[in-house]
Amino acid sequence: QANNNIFVDDLKEEGEKRPFPNPVSTFEEAFQHYPGIMENIVRVGFSKPTPIQSQAWPVSLKGEDLIAIAQTGTGKTLAYLLPVPNHTGLRDGPGMLVLTPTRELALQIESECNKYSYKGFKCVCVYGGGDRWAQIKAISAGVDIVIATPGRLNDLQMNELINMRSITYLVLDEADRMLDMGFEPQIMKILLDIRPDRQTIMTSATWPSGVRRLAKTYLKNPMMVYVGTLDL
Ligand code: ADP
Ligand code: MG
Repeated sequence: QANNNIFVDDLKEEGEKRPFPNPVSTFEEAFQHYPGIMENIVRVGFSKPTPIQSQAWPVSLKGEDLIAIAQTGTGKTLAYLLPVPNHTGLRDGPGMLVLTPTRELALQIESECNKYSYKGFKCVCVYGGGDRWAQIKAISAGVDIVIATPGRLNDLQMNELINMRSITYLVLDEADRMLDMGFEPQIMKILLDIRPDRQTIMTSATWPSGVRRLAKTYLKNPMMVYVGTLDL
């Protein structure tokens, strides 16, 4: 099992380096206390965690900020999605927010969410070009997980149509692509309204300087796991 995890020294803000939790080699090791999730995994028939999942779950389940770098198609979505029960149903309003660069990705994440996370979690997908009024109605009907492209979410936020204060689990998904698409200003504005004591997860296929800067600005003493090479 590949075990690539590092502290990125220039990301460190404070405190001692903590021991990395051991990677898991089975789904049970990670989710034995989350029976609803285990049932879904078994039903779908996945045989074992992907390398990035096996390293990411122990870190995110501990509540640590996490950077997960691995190429496209390696299972990063479930790496951040499955630990969500630690963050939902605690407050009035959504507990988890996933920011992702495109409508296609947002819809894909929504479908993974409906397949693998607990039944009963309400998930709303918010993206530019979608029916804005329908999105607003879905949010106000009560939602646990919001999956959004940055532009549309920023629009709803500015109009106070979404309760950002209840979010404790924030995912910056495909951070390299979000930066390439010029979403940094919207991300900045969105993050102004999210509580500073949140847990933040960032995923990316690559680790260029823009992504490192984003991580340094918005994550707290993160643990970083990666698969493959870090193309610096
Ligand atoms: P990434 O975000 O890294 O590009 P995805 O999260 O979209 O990749 O996953 C790619 C595909 O792999 C999806 O269809 C997903 O359902 C599948 N997948 C995720 N985890 C596993 C696993 N442990 N075993 C087999 N397939 C998996
Ligand atoms: Mg992805």
